[in-house]
Amino acid sequence: VERYLQNIADKRHLNAFLEVFEDEARQQAEKVDAKLQAGTAGKLAGMVIGIKDVLAYEGHTLQAASQILNGFKSLYTATAVQRLLAEDAIIIGRQNCDEFAMGGSNENSSFGPSLNDIDNTRVPGGSSGGSAVAVQADLCLASIGSDTGGSVRQPAAYCGVVGMKPTYSRISRYGLIAYASSFDQIGVITQSVEDAALLVEVMAGADEYDSTVSQRPVPAYSQAPVPDQPARIGFIRDSFESPGLNLEVKQAVQRVLEGLQAQGHTVEAVEFPFLDYIVPTYYILTTAEASSNLGRYDGVRYGYRSENATDLASMYKKTRAEGFGKEVQRRIMLGTFVLSADYYDAYYTKAQQVRRLIKEKTDDLLAQYDFLILPTTPTTAFKIGENTKDPLAMYLEDIYTVQANLAGIPAISLPIGQDAAGLPIGVQLMTKAFGEEQLFAFSRQLM
Ligand code: GLN
Repeated sequence: VERYLQNIADKRHLNAFLEVFEDEARQQAEKVDAKLQAGTAGKLAGMVIGIKDVLAYEGHTLQAASQILNGFKSLYTATAVQRLLAEDAIIIGRQNCDEFAMGGSNENSSFGPSLNDIDNTRVPGGSSGGSAVAVQADLCLASIGSDTGGSVRQPAAYCGVVGMKPTYSRISRYGLIAYASSFDQIGVITQSVEDAALLVEVMAGADEYDSTVSQRPVPAYSQAPVPDQPARIGFIRDSFESPGLNLEVKQAVQRVLEGLQAQGHTVEAVEFPFLDYIVPTYYILTTAEASSNLGRYDGVRYGYRSENATDLASMYKKTRAEGFGKEVQRRIMLGTFVLSADYYDAYYTKAQQVRRLIKEKTDDLLAQYDFLILPTTPTTAFKIGENTKDPLAMYLEDIYTVQANLAGIPAISLPIGQDAAGLPIGVQLMTKAFGEEQLFAFSRQLM
């Protein structure tokens, strides 16, 4: 704990943590020490973990990096966080992210961007940017983030660490601030696949507080033996044809494919003809869900309330206009538009149909292959400010990550080297729903 606290202090400029639970982490460490000596310590004893500012932790500030939750303290603890604590993990602090997890660069945080530790002029990715930087810069052993369309995997790729999003419904969302409820899933950012497997294993499983969570038993992911059979891997060829793909990223993924083949795995190119549709489908559906989920921040129940209001309606309006940042407002408006009576069928219903098609095609491929492989991101970490004037360019950065959320399947990003400038590159593996065990076991071979 002391070492991490020192690292955090030395790297304040990275803006990875919004709050450090210094005294509390020390106290927790002492308790865990005593348990270790008594031989009663849990599975995560001594793991020092940071949590993204979208996870409830009783008595602690919870803000989703937004001003609209200014001053809000959580009344209860998220199930996932509760389970970490129950296994004697040490929670060291609350991490910076894009406001309400909307973004891919951490630039939408109302507390300013987090910086990539490899090059401070570049973004760490997002929305779990602070969480990824914290692992990259050794400010904690692991981070817990959320992944609605890539928010764990993309920053992991930009920071050269492991990022894993489980199957939709594998981990309870109780105590996770909702962005788009049919996409949101808690995920992990770690240095190693083993740590990721262990953390997911501890957090996953039935929970009476989340009616959508899966009741399936949770296998011991961290104990899964490395398979001795060669795997069948489908490489999504279309991902190599998208115009935004950076050459060095492409070459790095190509080398991984060649390596897999050399190890005796079957690697075949597969067609996924919907790549052009996945970003529009994702943004129609997630903004629709977000516009509904964020309706609750009205100045009455949580956090911030405008002081300039003259009556109830102006209190709602001013609170929301002052409390939400630009990108969140844009998404609420987009979502409200696609749900409005005149446009509902043209956008929302259509996007639901396309989501179904994407899911069916993805499941179909995963019936033939153990894993699907593609880059995690089209580029390496971009410059701070580079995409802020062009939201569409920013949205297109999500082209490879949103498929897993649209289909509800697990996916992992693994670091596979750097470009000429030393910026990390990630490769992504997806597998069928509830295939976490094989995904972790296979990923171990790749790292
Ligand atoms: N970049 C994507 C978005 O802005 C993903 C965000 C996420 O997974 N929370 O929606």
